[in-house]
Amino acid sequence: MNAPKILKVAVNVPLSRLFDYRPPSGQPPAAIGARVRVPFGRRKLTGVVMGISDESDVDASKLKSAIETLDAAPLLSDEDLWLIRFTSDYYHHPIGEVMAAALPALIRKGGALTPTLEFLTATSTAGSADLDALAKRAPKQAELLTTLIDAGVDGLDSESLNAILQNWRRPLRPLIDKGLVTRAERAAYLRTTVEPTDGMPGPPLNAAQQQAVDGAGSATGFAPYLLDGVTGSGKTEVYLELIRRTIDTGRQALVLVPEIGLTPQLIERFRLRLGLKPALLHSGLTDLERLDAWREARAGGAPLVVGTRSAVFTPLPKLGLVIVDEEHDASFKQQEGLRYSARDLAIARAKRAGCPIVLGSATPTLELLRHCRDGGYTRLVLPERAGGARPPRLRIVDTSRDYSDDGLSNALGEAVRRHLDAGGQALLYLNRRGFAPALVCPACNHIAECRRCDSRMTVHAADRQLRCHHCGAGRPLDEVCSECGAEVRALGAGTERLEEALKTRFPQRRIARIDSDTTQRKGEMDAALASAQLGRSDILVGTQMLSKGHHFPKLTLVGIVNADQGLFGTDFRSDERMAQSIVQVAGRAGREESAGEVLIQTAFPRHPFWSRLIESGYAGIAGDALAEREKANWPPYSRLALIRAAAHKHRDTHAFLEAARHMIGDDAGVRVLGPVDAVMARRAGRYRAQLLLVANERRLLHGLLRRLRPGLEDAPLARRVRWSIDVDPIELY
Ligand code: ADP
Ligand code: ZN
Repeated sequence: MNAPKILKVAVNVPLSRLFDYRPPSGQPPAAIGARVRVPFGRRKLTGVVMGISDESDVDASKLKSAIETLDAAPLLSDEDLWLIRFTSDYYHHPIGEVMAAALPALIRKGGALTPTLEFLTATSTAGSADLDALAKRAPKQAELLTTLIDAGVDGLDSESLNAILQNWRRPLRPLIDKGLVTRAERAAYLRTTVEPTDGMPGPPLNAAQQQAVDGAGSATGFAPYLLDGVTGSGKTEVYLELIRRTIDTGRQALVLVPEIGLTPQLIERFRLRLGLKPALLHSGLTDLERLDAWREARAGGAPLVVGTRSAVFTPLPKLGLVIVDEEHDASFKQQEGLRYSARDLAIARAKRAGCPIVLGSATPTLELLRHCRDGGYTRLVLPERAGGARPPRLRIVDTSRDYSDDGLSNALGEAVRRHLDAGGQALLYLNRRGFAPALVCPACNHIAECRRCDSRMTVHAADRQLRCHHCGAGRPLDEVCSECGAEVRALGAGTERLEEALKTRFPQRRIARIDSDTTQRKGEMDAALASAQLGRSDILVGTQMLSKGHHFPKLTLVGIVNADQGLFGTDFRSDERMAQSIVQVAGRAGREESAGEVLIQTAFPRHPFWSRLIESGYAGIAGDALAEREKANWPPYSRLALIRAAAHKHRDTHAFLEAARHMIGDDAGVRVLGPVDAVMARRAGRYRAQLLLVANERRLLHGLLRRLRPGLEDAPLARRVRWSIDVDPIELY
């Protein structure tokens, strides 16, 4: 007799292996790619069957049975499972955790692919007469009824209602009794299907755009392209045309955008031009909305999926085109848990699917530039701004001579005035929120520090607080020095201080500050941006939130208030990163008829970085950096992995990493550096350190990590130390 088949199940636990179970008894068989409920210790967990085998390493007497089969048919295809396995192997991360990261929350928790939901609908008789009657005596009922009338004939599901109203259950009952609202259980399809139309034609493509479309559009099979074009050069038009062609042949397109890039503007542009509603996947959605988009993509019904980082895991059976917009953006790399790069996984996916991938940027990463130089990637260049706008002029302001504590030098203040008088808008970019980055005592030089981090406290003036931007700790602002009692002073400028200075200097002008302090509530950010786009504010002050993707038609001046933040960075990527952020924010200036101007405030005007940037632009800086990296054997000329560790005791952190180093031993082909403390050694009460692995060949590095991981999981200190493996880190810590 045959032994019963064994299910190899991926379970969401931090261990790098599959777990063996007997099939659930008295249940339909579980196929590969289906979910099962399994006993795990004392818990019951949802897992996914990754394989079925005749054999098990577990002793037959200890082998448990799965409890139930959750999917009659496989939920995930072979291709979907391939991506999970690839991600787990490449990032040396437990497969069950990769699975959990890849699936929508409701699926991960074992819910149905198409859940049923409670839908509430205003009846056709409900109208303004009822609202008037309710308004005085039962305002809660009136509020609920208004919401449901506004929702129309489809009504609202309970989840969506939760997002709009609180405590709507109590007023619901009487509305049902009065026959004004009906309740029904229905399958939850949220996306009212819109019949695709032809979409609106765009501007005729210019020669460079046409060349790019012809290039990437003619690809058969896997073909990687860098679309290298300055801001406003018409990259999005190229994407649109390529997407249109893909959809016309019945295939699906996946577009990944940075977190900040997924604006209502962009979605609307896709919708209008392609005549369809893209399936969206991003962190601002409810679980149900995410599931809805995921399900439609999985079924092949959604021709276009647009999303942020985790959308790279969306099942797409008919994938025919992948686009990564702003490929240099750091938000594509997840910095905790499963530390994956969505951009790199997107490339792997396109390769597997045998389709073209277009990676667009005005400031391409050195990785991509190198791929173009000697890795078979094709570089498509859009050299000029479309629609005739001229590139902005860059000018340096020397803050060693022209300094102001509030960030507004004379030269910058003058320029703001000039541009506003000429009818333009100004954007002042300062990647530092709060009033001031430090509170110092002029008498004894004491600086207010965080008690849990090796960092300074930021002054927040509006609510009179000192806050740590690394751990969130806060305390009331001291008026006098805690050490010597002298009067303290806020040093340097954050966005709050700069805004104040502008208000004093330009009392008649409308000033909008956009940073995470002013846009905490949902929708505030979009509202502030929309208002800026309509030209309702004269001066915009903001952090990097403002630097990407947005189009402000009247903007003619960009001021980079503190350009020295990255000039002497410790990371080998400092130059690249800094040039990217300056060029990106500069790209906001002068996007239409009026020429733009960019002022860069630095205390080191003679630093060679500036002359290089002004004379040869991003390409010059990137070319230099690439040459340096090659000489020093840093990425992209070598491969890195970091082992990070953090613990309450400094000693534990180092002991763990020493143990790791010992396990590695003398590995030919991989250099091991460290352990060394992180640049900010203590953060939120934990000491952090790292071990850096450098290899010339990816194969050697991955071989080592594969051998190392089980040992780390079993290390006695692994319980007291938070540790992780970061493959291709973008930040050393
Ligand atoms: P990017 O994505 O590179 O920033 P966009 O595609 O958003 O650039 O284009 C910038 C602006 O130029 C948009 O307003 C767009 O409508 C316009 N534009 C793009 N291509 C053309 C073209 N071929 N002719 C005229 N205007 C164009
Ligand atoms: Zn702190």
